[in-house]
Amino acid sequence: MSEWKTVIGLEVHAEMETESKMFSRCPVVDSVEAEPNTAVDPLSLGMPGTLPVINMRAMEYGIMVGLALNCHIPPVNQFARKNYFYPDLPKGYQISQYDRPLAVNGYINIEVDDGTTKQIRVRRAHMEEDTGKLTHAMGGSLVDYNRAGVPLLEIVSEPDIASAAEAEAYARKLRSILRYLGVNSGDMSKGILRFEANVSVMPAGDTELRERTEIKNLNSIRNMVKAIDYEVQRQIQLYGSGATVKPATLGWDETAQKITVQRYKERADEYRYFPEPDLPLIEVSREWVEDLRGRLPALPDELQRRFIDELKLSAYDAAVLTAERSVAAYFQEIIDNGVDAKIASNWITTDLFRMMNARDIERESIDALPISAKDFAGLLTLVQTGAINQSTARKKVLPEMWNTGKTARQIVDEQGLAQISDPEVIGAAVEKAIADNQDLVQRLLDGNDKVINALFGRVMAELRGKADPSLARKSLQSKIDSMK
Ligand code: ADP
Ligand code: MG
Repeated sequence: MSEWKTVIGLEVHAEMETESKMFSRCPVVDSVEAEPNTAVDPLSLGMPGTLPVINMRAMEYGIMVGLALNCHIPPVNQFARKNYFYPDLPKGYQISQYDRPLAVNGYINIEVDDGTTKQIRVRRAHMEEDTGKLTHAMGGSLVDYNRAGVPLLEIVSEPDIASAAEAEAYARKLRSILRYLGVNSGDMSKGILRFEANVSVMPAGDTELRERTEIKNLNSIRNMVKAIDYEVQRQIQLYGSGATVKPATLGWDETAQKITVQRYKERADEYRYFPEPDLPLIEVSREWVEDLRGRLPALPDELQRRFIDELKLSAYDAAVLTAERSVAAYFQEIIDNGVDAKIASNWITTDLFRMMNARDIERESIDALPISAKDFAGLLTLVQTGAINQSTARKKVLPEMWNTGKTARQIVDEQGLAQISDPEVIGAAVEKAIADNQDLVQRLLDGNDKVINALFGRVMAELRGKADPSLARKSLQSKIDSMK
C-alpha cells in the first residue's frame, strides 16, 4: 500500500471586530497593543451575579459571514454553555452555540491546481465569546482578560480539503471574504483570525475516514501549510511502520520547524453543553436575513466572474485583482477613467506590485500609495494614446510619480518626455545610428539578422528613449532594406 490521500477539515476562529464585547458594553481593544487587563468589566471577569446581553451587531456580522459563505441561516439559533475549567475562562464555562448555530451548510469556492473551481463545504458557523490570553513566563502564568468576551465566530468546514495547497486556498479565500465584509482584519499574527487544521490520511482507494489529529497555534497561513505537510508525512510514516495515528492536539514549533504533541485526546464530549439559561433564543426573521443580504458588498467570486466575463481578463489576473477589496477598487477606478482593462491589469500586477514588494508594502495598502488610482489612470492614458511610450512610462515617469507625487502629465511636460513620432526626426536618428555603427551594419548586411535589435537600441538612445518604437523600427528596417 503506497498511495495515500490527505483529508483536511479546517476550524477557523474569527473575532468579529465590534466596538464592544459579545455580552457586555466593555470595549474591545487591540489585545497585543493594550496594557493587560485594562478592557475588563465584571462580566468579562465572570463575576457572580452578572448577566449577559447579546451584542446584536456581532450577531449581524456573524449572519453576514454565513450568507457570504452561502450558508442557510436557520430561523432560530441559541447559545449554550460549554463547561470546562481553565484560568483563561473565569466563569468556568464559555458561552458558545452547540446544536443551534447561526449558520449551516454553506460552501467556499477555491481554485485548485488544474485551474478548476472546487467547492469546500462549510458545515456550520457559530457565535461564541473569546477567552482570555495566558502567557507562560517567569516560572508561572500571566493572564490578560482584555480578550475575554470578544465576539468570536467559529467556522467549521467539512473534511473536503485534499491537500495543504487546498487548505491554503481555502484559508486565503475565507480571509479575503472576511476582509471584504469588514468584520475581521485577517491579522493572524495578533490572533484576530486563527486556523486549526484537522488532518488524517487514508489509502487512496478507501472511503472510510481514519483518526485525525488537530494542529493548533498556527500564526500564519505559511506555517499552516508547513505544519500540514509535516503532519501528513508523519502519519504516512506511522502507518507505514505498522503503528496507528492516535487522536491528538498538536502544535507547530516554528523554531524547530516540526510538530509537537500537546496532548492526546479522549474522543468524548466532556463539555456538558446545555442551553444558556441567561439568554433568550434568537429568532432570525426572513426580513432580517434579506436586509443583511442586501448589505453585503460585491464579494471576490462575483467580482472575479465579472472581470473575466465582462473585461476578458484571465482567471489568474482576475483572482489576483479581487483577492483584496482595495486592489479591486483601485483597478476599477483606473478602468472607470477610460483605461483598457488588460493594460490596467498588467501594469498593476507587474509594475505597481513590484514597486510595492520592493518596499514591503502589503497589497491591501494600495489605497495609501503615493500614486492614486486617478493618477495611475492618467499615466496609462498617456501610454494608451501614444503621448509617451511604454518604456518611458515604466522607467522614467512611474518612479518619478512615486517619488514626487506629481502627475504623469506634469512630469512629461517638465522633462520633455513626450513620445517622438515625427518621421523626419526619427529618420535623422536612424541615419546617425547607421553612420556611427558601421560595424553593426556590416554584420547585419552579412546576414546576422539579430543585430537589428542592437541597432534599434542605438536609434532609441539617440532620441533618449522617447521615439515611438514601432515607427523607429519600421524606419530602421526600410533604411537597411534599401542598403541590401
Ligand atoms: P468535533 O466535534 O470533535 O470538533 P467534528 O466532527 O465536528 O469534530 O470535526 C471537526 C473538524 O474536523 C471539521 O472541520 C471536520 O471537517 C474535521 N474532520 C472530521 N473528521 C476528520 C478526519 N477524519 N480527517 C480530517 N478532518 C476531519
Ligand atoms: Mg472541534
